[in-house]
Amino acid sequence: MKIAVFLPELLRHLFKKPATVDYPFKKLEVPKDFRGTPYLNPEMCIACRACERDCPAEAIEISSVNEAEKRFRMVIHNDRCIHCAQCVDSCPTTPKAMQMDSLFEIACDDRHKLKTDWVYVRAVLKPKAAAPAAAPQAAEPKT
Ligand code: SF4
Ligand code: SF4
Repeated sequence: MKIAVFLPELLRHLFKKPATVDYPFKKLEVPKDFRGTPYLNPEMCIACRACERDCPAEAIEISSVNEAEKRFRMVIHNDRCIHCAQCVDSCPTTPKAMQMDSLFEIACDDRHKLKTDWVYVRAVLKPKAAAPAAAPQAAEPKT
């Protein structure tokens, strides 16, 4: 095949911007809803264990540390986490006790270093204000 066949394409690409990013020499911006690493906001956690139950990778472990004090421990095993954000979806609190950050450079040479844990007292969330009662309806006249 003659080189002339490729020449127009070659010249076109010589003057185009690179399609790739110069990572890791340049910081990589991640999209707004990027699913990085899960983390706990312990002040909001009611220890309902929905995140632990629904995690498909069994990456969340919640245990009771002190029953009387309602103190719990949560461990997230980031070496198992598949960054699906199911734990965030399952978390019932508002704002969410479980959240995802935008970190992705967490690789290391020892998987045990990827564990993150929190010891905290279970949050007691205020109940939502009850909706106003409906006005009583006038009784219909009997016929
Ligand atoms: S992001 Fe997915 S895999 Fe990771 S801890 Fe949450 S539910 Fe589990
Ligand atoms: S992080 Fe959310 S889902 Fe998990 S135990 Fe706490 S309140 Fe429940």
